[in-house]
Amino acid sequence: MAYEFTIEKIEKSRISTLDPENIQFGKLYTDHMFSADFENGNWGNFNITPYQPVSLSPATSALQYGQSIFEGMKAFAFEDGSIQLFRPGQNAKRLNISAERMVMPAFPEDLFLQAVKTLVELDRQWVPDRPGSSLYIRPFMFATDDFIGVKPSEKYRFMIFCCPVGPYYNKSLRVKVEEKYSRAAPGGTGFTKCAGNYAASMYPTWLAQKEGFDQVLWMDPLTHTLVEETGTTNFFAVFKDSVVTPKLDESLLAGITRDTLLQIMRSMNQKVEERALPIAEIISEFNKGNVRELFICGTAATLMNVNGLSFRNTYYDVEAQGDNSLSQQLLQTLNDIRYGHSEDTFGWMEQVTEASQQPA
Ligand SMILES: *Cc1c(COP(=O)(O)O)cnc(C)c1O
Repeated sequence: MAYEFTIEKIEKSRISTLDPENIQFGKLYTDHMFSADFENGNWGNFNITPYQPVSLSPATSALQYGQSIFEGMKAFAFEDGSIQLFRPGQNAKRLNISAERMVMPAFPEDLFLQAVKTLVELDRQWVPDRPGSSLYIRPFMFATDDFIGVKPSEKYRFMIFCCPVGPYYNKSLRVKVEEKYSRAAPGGTGFTKCAGNYAASMYPTWLAQKEGFDQVLWMDPLTHTLVEETGTTNFFAVFKDSVVTPKLDESLLAGITRDTLLQIMRSMNQKVEERALPIAEIISEFNKGNVRELFICGTAATLMNVNGLSFRNTYYDVEAQGDNSLSQQLLQTLNDIRYGHSEDTFGWMEQVTEASQQPA
């Protein structure tokens, strides 16, 4: 089923403000945005308009009580001129997992996909085609009742905007093991992409950054002994004899990149374990000289190597790995698929614009 969208195009594109050689992530938005409103139990008012501020009542429920969730996904420009989305159906599904936990209405998956595709097609000239570049897409939903009182809102807004992303650099990270603060609580919202999770993670991350680290590695909220993830990425450890990533639970975000890398590893017969990963085990492997690689992964960051871990005031260095490391092989395989350099045997790419269609 196709939904009816009202499309108001921008008078004059801002594309000339995009310098593809020098893109600052998260600062420049494409010409258009999508919005939809939930009222009286239904989604409607499907609009694409020029990117612009939204006007809200000061009592807007999302601002007061935080019913607000988001997704993050990417579109890629292939050399044949087509634009392709990476596993967009997974984001559509996950948005609704977050929505359910926050008592927000589900957003129909087919509507989600139609909205993303229509918006990206309209703004296709914003998808950078330089190697390593992409278009970051940010769908999100928030409560719009102007009512003071803690209860689920009756009205919601769903929106999508996009921003171009420049070439990817594998910056090496210094990561602090966080044993005091928690990102999520048992029975809480850790498995959702709700805005509050990120607000709660900022103070401990700020403290770690003041100490000279880039990120914190969160432990399980109950015992602070089991590795979970970092702020917006999932975590993998490559030991001498095994590859391990923490198994999913209610305080962990089920990353699509995590799932993607697990599938790639299994397809190359690389054994990988999803299980409880005690920080004590990592430290013990460090002491035996068995830690080959640590890396984190997520849509925005793709895959980044962890340079070392700080645990109880000792810094444990990961030895530098060559181009043959598992993480580099995974990154190469993933990028070959996302940029159309190898066959998409997993069926992960979804075409938005045809190969023959040149940017307007
Ligand atoms: C978004 C996110 C991830 C990564 O998920 P992807 O689907 O791979 O982008 C990991 N952890 C947290 C807390 C996140 O918000």
